[in-house]
Amino acid sequence: ARLARASAAHGPGRTADGHPVALLVNLGGLAELDGAAAADAEGVGLFRTEFLYLDRAEAPSFEEQRAAYRRVFTAFAGRRVVVRTLDAGADKPLPFVSSADEENPALGIRGLRTARRAPELLDTQLAAIAAAARELDADVRVMAPMVALPAEAAWFAGRARSHGLASAGSMVEVPAAALRAEELAAACDFLSIGTNDLAQYTFAADRGLGELAELLDPWQPALLSLVAATARAGAAAGKPVGVCGEAAADPELALVLVGLGITSLSAAPACLPEVRAALTAHTRARCEDLAALALNAPDATTARDLVRERVGG
Ligand code: PEP
Ligand code: MG
Repeated sequence: ARLARASAAHGPGRTADGHPVALLVNLGGLAELDGAAAADAEGVGLFRTEFLYLDRAEAPSFEEQRAAYRRVFTAFAGRRVVVRTLDAGADKPLPFVSSADEENPALGIRGLRTARRAPELLDTQLAAIAAAARELDADVRVMAPMVALPAEAAWFAGRARSHGLASAGSMVEVPAAALRAEELAAACDFLSIGTNDLAQYTFAADRGLGELAELLDPWQPALLSLVAATARAGAAAGKPVGVCGEAAADPELALVLVGLGITSLSAAPACLPEVRAALTAHTRARCEDLAALALNAPDATTARDLVRERVGG
């Protein structure tokens, strides 16, 4: 068994019985690029592009963006890169697009809503991503943050396709998106659950408030119910459903997510070896048992304890 485990300690992620689960890295800027590219991962599952836009008076130019995307696609040559388009607003206001006078910025013009207000910003970004991808023949996919409606997902996918980008997905970070995941999946090419914001909006709990950590616990059964519904909808529509929020970094929770039907996990590079090892040690059927345990638990602590006890860690 030790040998078997060692042999699966690198390469594509899979369960003990060979069910594939793509293991991907989250990337937040060029400073992290070398470390991310060195990770044993199948690519980038969440490339946060806010760093290009923050702390400046004007949006970055097409050329500046193209150069940055080129660097990332070069470092990940032969591997997929999922680029999330600008997620501004809320805690990341931008002078050239955000309103300064919103009373509830987390519920305001943020994420894709920013792009609906200023489509030229999105178009420049998509054009720069597409140009760099074409130049390097890279496997590039784009996804939109803070999608609430299937019509928004369709609008984004249409815009992406008009730039020649063949794969466009939606993040699931708003409960409405999870509740209508089937329509959302039909409107785009893949879904990616952002558990940080999904927890914030499901529990009406500011994700930055330490005092509310219990509500924001990614083991909360209510959050897992929304993940389960989204994964089911993706399977029904034949579209992949990943998780790119912090939940994917917890090895035991990763088993639960796979048991719920999640097809890829994206996390900080340092977290991936443990997630990989957990997958390698458990069959998909075992993951499904663990998922049922967690889903049916009365609270987050019990869910975590039951799964950890069963896993024997
Ligand atoms: C999330 O909300 O879970 C997510 C992955 O996006 P961000 O943390 O950048 O908001
Ligand atoms: Mg988010």
